[in-house]
Amino acid sequence: MKTPLLGGFGPPHDSEHWLGPIQRLPQPMRRFAEGETVDYAIVGVGAGGGVLAQRLSRAGFRVIGFDAGPFWDTERDWVSDEAGSHPLYWEDLRITGGTHPLALGQNNSGKGVGGSTVHWAAFTPRLHPSDFRIHTEDGVGVDWPISYDEIRPYYELMELEMPVSGPAWFPWGHPHGYAYGPHPMGGVGDILIRGCSKLGIHVSAGGPVGILEGSHGDRPHCIYRGFCIQGCKVGAKASTLITHVPDAIRSGAEIRANCMVSRIHLGGNRRVTGISYFDPDGKERFQKARAVIVAGYSIETPRLLLNSACPGFENGLANSSDCVGRYLMAQAGNVVLGRFDELVRMYKAPPAHCMTEAFYETDPKRGFARGFAIQSVAPLPISFAKQMMQAKGAWGWGLRRLGMDYNHWAAIAVLGELLPNAHNRVQLADLKDSFGLPVARVTFNLYDNDKKLIEFAKNKTQEVMWAAGATEVVQEARYAHLVGAARMGNDPATSVVDRYGRTHDIVNLFVCDGSVMPTQGSANPGLTVQALAARTADYLISQGDSIFCSDNRDMTPPPFRKDLAPPETWGKGAPRLK
Ligand SMILES: Cc1cc2nc3c(=O)[nH]c(=O)nc-3n(C[C@H](O)[C@H](O)[C@H](O)COP(=O)(O)OP(=O)(O)OC[C@H]3O[C@@H](n4cnc5c(N)ncnc54)[C@H](O)[C@@H]3O)c2cc1C
Ligand code: SF4
Repeated sequence: MKTPLLGGFGPPHDSEHWLGPIQRLPQPMRRFAEGETVDYAIVGVGAGGGVLAQRLSRAGFRVIGFDAGPFWDTERDWVSDEAGSHPLYWEDLRITGGTHPLALGQNNSGKGVGGSTVHWAAFTPRLHPSDFRIHTEDGVGVDWPISYDEIRPYYELMELEMPVSGPAWFPWGHPHGYAYGPHPMGGVGDILIRGCSKLGIHVSAGGPVGILEGSHGDRPHCIYRGFCIQGCKVGAKASTLITHVPDAIRSGAEIRANCMVSRIHLGGNRRVTGISYFDPDGKERFQKARAVIVAGYSIETPRLLLNSACPGFENGLANSSDCVGRYLMAQAGNVVLGRFDELVRMYKAPPAHCMTEAFYETDPKRGFARGFAIQSVAPLPISFAKQMMQAKGAWGWGLRRLGMDYNHWAAIAVLGELLPNAHNRVQLADLKDSFGLPVARVTFNLYDNDKKLIEFAKNKTQEVMWAAGATEVVQEARYAHLVGAARMGNDPATSVVDRYGRTHDIVNLFVCDGSVMPTQGSANPGLTVQALAARTADYLISQGDSIFCSDNRDMTPPPFRKDLAPPETWGKGAPRLK
């Protein structure tokens, strides 16, 4: 129950949106009338779609963001309970297969306004400069069509917009510091530091993480209750639901929640004309738009493009390259758990607060290309129990005893770069969902370099755990963070979108989410997804109406629009950005 001080509960209705007591928007959300044409229909209001909706509406475009899931009220809908947080995930039916089938559902995408940033841990490292040129440097994967220097200003901007807390000096990749100070260490962070220090490995303490270490505007600081992955009820953790969507609404965007987009429509002149969607009552409707941007995550984005096949694009919309759905990537995410005689209490902090990137770059002595990070993670009891079932085969009374021993365990995890491969892909299955749409079939295989990397990374992470003084060490194999499946590139024969996210095949159709990443590095992808979205927005804004009426593809780099950041970004902390 809310206290009288904070006011009574009330459901969000047409004229107000409640994002907890701290985020109540005092103005009505704009509603576009049935039949009205908008400039941009954005499919998915998550990491990419949320930033994009905010930028485009702030620049004066008429924008609707569609999301298949609800518009969360952080106070009413989220609970400090691990099991109660399940509605946050995209749990709809999907088929998974391949030599190493990926666990889907809560292991990857979110459903609802804010997307996966609602339940992400909010680790926010940048990709390294080398990540943009792994084919040139290491002879594997593919180079990006952009360089680190092109995305760097957007990294800096997004780090201020969330904002990111972190150390004054982060030594890996392109070394940099964070404007907002680091978090204090939790039990797991202490152990990662202890293990790494014994082995002479440098560690970053207290971030980088998109969680407030001091109050910021109307958002309170973190209270170290450890429910970040369950949706941070207090609003200390950044998600586009609280960082960008409120400003999008203030700037005139409409967010249509509980609306599942089912098809993108193509008109006579190879231009998209709008989208069909199922409204909250299950009725199929059409929204006319001058351009469409797909930002539905690496499974739903290719699924929608494939489901939108039509004459001229029988193989899926914007799929002349046959790359839609291909080059799907997941990072190696093996979790290493260690038991300590002392109490660790790993739940008492954000899981994401301590990491090392000392093994990030290729080292020829290791016998494989690319590398990995080691990060603090802190599973809550249900996840811990599942990990113990997998890692130790624990069951029955043995599992119960381990559960009672939870406070003595620490968990750290590998985040390793697995390489893009055309056979790792999203396709359409024969099965249909409740809307009658074919569901996604996800195929994932490990290849030689991947297996060698996982073996080395897993062993090194266990070494760190032993060095920290664990009396028992076990590990669970898992994968994290899906990206790719609509990759960007200069060559229309081998990629789906260009360097700004515009599909090579259709001038007014864009993709703007993790799907566009050609490789994934060993950094958690959320910051990169949001930085790319801000850059795509700058491009669209600089092109103005030509996106809607010209067939020219002007590739001139857009001016950097720092002024489009949500107003509360500035004036807090000590931004380094000039
Ligand atoms: C447990 C967990 C922890 C994570 N921790 C981190 C972390 O610490 N750091 C990090 O960087 N990343 C982390 N991630 C990953 C990160 O959250 C995602 O990579 C990122 O949010 C992806 O952004 P996106 O825009 O591609 O998709 P999303 O943010 O998932 O947004 C997609 C949105 O599209 C909507 N949608 C999809 N299809 C349709 C449709 N047809 N119609 C309407 N709406 C649709 C969905 O409902 C969703 O809201 C974590 C993920 C998980 C599962
Ligand atoms: S630990 Fe901090 S960021 Fe995580 S849920 Fe609690 S208050 Fe939110």
